[in-house]
Amino acid sequence: MTSLLSADEISFLSRHGYSEEDVYDGRHQSKDRRAAAAKEAGKHLVLAGVIGRGDCRTLGHRLRTRAGHCIQCKPINIAFQRREDEPGYVYIAGSLSGRVIKVGTTGNLNQRENQMRAEGYGGSKDWIVLFSLYVAKGGEFERAASSRVKGNRVYRTYFKDGIEQGAVELHQCSFSEALRAMTEHLSEEERKRMTVFRSSNVDRYEFRHE
Ligand SMILES: [Zn+2]
Repeated sequence: MTSLLSADEISFLSRHGYSEEDVYDGRHQSKDRRAAAAKEAGKHLVLAGVIGRGDCRTLGHRLRTRAGHCIQCKPINIAFQRREDEPGYVYIAGSLSGRVIKVGTTGNLNQRENQMRAEGYGGSKDWIVLFSLYVAKGGEFERAASSRVKGNRVYRTYFKDGIEQGAVELHQCSFSEALRAMTEHLSEEERKRMTVFRSSNVDRYEFRHE
């Protein structure tokens, strides 16, 4: 891509560790079409025509994540996009007290487990990581697996440092169901490369849903 971007856009990208090479030119495409094309092209970010609302429109922001979120208003969106594309552990965690299952992604399993317990994530302090896989695109894998879980979605808020946290999505389902959702679409090649951790206590996490 040559000189499609303004000097401000180029310097914004470089401050966040990206270059023009990471940007897919989707100015003349619909949001869905450019998201798919950018992914196909292996680009993390997209250049959109200015069609945003409010501040974005006024400021002429054009750089977005593939999902369409402005990264100039909220550079934190870049972190979400990175998480989506980066390798990591997708995991299934369970809470006996809450009788719920969580499907998540992290770069550090032990740290994530300790953090969930310490902060009482989703209102439970007895989280245990029951199963995990190391995959190439953590966030993407997590979302796909989570959406395949059959069971009830439950949303719970909790307090962290005295502040109520947004609702977290948990599954009221059995461990086996979450495991099926996570592993059913793996290719033979992926199965070979996977590092698998599985807890010996999984039988106690066969929660039922109505
Ligand atoms: Zn913006």
